[in-house]
Amino acid sequence: MQSEFTWMDGKLLPTAEATVPFLTVGLHYGLGVFEGIRCYDTARGPAVFRLPEHARRLIDSARILGLETAYTPEQIVQGCVDVVASNKFRECYLRPLIFAKGGMNLSLVGAPTGVGIAGWAWAAYLGEEAKKAGIRVNVSSYTRHHPNVVMTKAKASGNYVSSALAKSESVRIGCDEAIMLDPQGYVSECTGQNLFIVRDGTLITPSAASILEGITRDSILELATDLGHPPVERTVSRDELYLAEEVFVCGSATEIISVREIDGRRVGDGKMGPVTTKLHRAFTDAVRGKTAAYEKWLTFVP
Ligand code: PMP
Repeated sequence: MQSEFTWMDGKLLPTAEATVPFLTVGLHYGLGVFEGIRCYDTARGPAVFRLPEHARRLIDSARILGLETAYTPEQIVQGCVDVVASNKFRECYLRPLIFAKGGMNLSLVGAPTGVGIAGWAWAAYLGEEAKKAGIRVNVSSYTRHHPNVVMTKAKASGNYVSSALAKSESVRIGCDEAIMLDPQGYVSECTGQNLFIVRDGTLITPSAASILEGITRDSILELATDLGHPPVERTVSRDELYLAEEVFVCGSATEIISVREIDGRRVGDGKMGPVTTKLHRAFTDAVRGKTAAYEKWLTFVP
C-alpha cells in the first residue's frame, strides 16, 4: 500500500499525513461511499479505466445515502489523475472515499463529510494463480442485501460487512470467493464482483435489480454485444450455476476471473471456456489501450 501522496479534501498530502481522527463517525458506523478504479500502463502512458463513470457512481452513491459533498464528479476525476501523476504510477488501483465526519450521530442530515483519494500498486486481487487456473467458489450461507435494507446501487462502506462475512466463510472452507443469493433466493453477485454464466452458448448475467451495477459488468455487456454474443440480463437460479458450461466473475479490482468449481461441482471442463477467453482478451486489450474503439473508456494521465 505504498504511495507518496494521497489526495485529501482537494489537496495532495504526504500519505503519512492523510489520516482521520479516531472519533470519525463514518469509521464507527460504516457511513461512507467509495470507489475502486484501475489505472493501466498503455503505450500512451498511464490510463484510468472508465474514470468519469466511477466518479459519477461515487457521487450517485453519496446521493443515495443522502450524504452531502461539495465535490463534483469532475473534481473527483481530477483528484484521481493527480494521485496517479504525483505518485508517478504507471499502473495502480485508486480508492476515492467520501465519509461522514463530525459528532457521533446516526443522522446523515447535514452531516459534514470528508473526501480522500488513495492510490497504490495492487496486482491480482484474487491472486496470480486465479488468473491462470480460475477459482473455486461456494454459494454463501449469507443472503445478499435486499435493496430496501441497504441500497445495493450505492457502493457504501457498511454494505461490505456482509461481503466480509461471506468472503471469510469462503476462505475458511477453502474456497476463493462466494456467490451470494438475493433475499428471493436468486443469484445476485459475489462479495466484490458481478457474475456471468454461459448456458447453452448464451451469455447471461443477473438483472440489475439488487446488485451493484458494476462498471466492468457494463463494459462486458458492450464487449459481448460487439463480439457477437448478445448478453441476456435476467433472473438466474442457483441450479443454473451448476448447469452452466462457463462461469466468470468480474470487477475493477478482480478484472475477469473464470470459475472452475462451484459447491464442489466442476464448471465445464474446469478450464476457462471459449466465451470467457474471448471476453477476457477483449477486456485486457481494451484496458491496455490496444483497441481504438474502446479508447473512449480511457482517461490518459499526462
Ligand atoms: N459488486 C460488488 C458488491 C462490488 O463490490 C463490486 C466492485 N466494485 C462489483 C460488483 C463490481 O463493480 P465494478 O465492476 O464497478 O468494480
